[in-house]
Amino acid sequence: MPVTYRLAKDFNVAANIIRAQVAPNQIGTLVVELSGDIDQLDAALEWLRSQDIDISTANREILIDEDVCVHCGLCTGVCPTEALTLDPQTFRLHFMRSRCVVCEQCIPTCPVQAISPNL
Ligand code: SF4
Ligand code: SF4
Repeated sequence: MPVTYRLAKDFNVAANIIRAQVAPNQIGTLVVELSGDIDQLDAALEWLRSQDIDISTANREILIDEDVCVHCGLCTGVCPTEALTLDPQTFRLHFMRSRCVVCEQCIPTCPVQAISPNL
């Protein structure tokens, strides 16, 4: 089903796909940032639920263990929102939580498992 097309056409809701794991004839996962009128967003979410699409808007968070992080910067290369950056002065990892969309792409890139989701 062309979900993002229907969101735009029927509800005037823009869907910015952050991460997609979709295989033919299997259950898939999309991490999307939706923007639009609040009433239209509510209607769009209701429509998604009516299509048997499970929606999670839970306030999950990403945690960075500062005692474990070695500031290698690998995670900054996969972060789509630049929530993770290396400070150009100190070369230490800087995490801007307000930019994080919890796409979890950074988690598997960390060689020392310093990043985890706060469930
Ligand atoms: S989960 Fe990680 S990669 Fe995704 S936006 Fe947040 S910090 Fe960036
Ligand atoms: S990949 Fe892991 S160790 Fe490297 S900067 Fe990111 S959190 Fe720190």
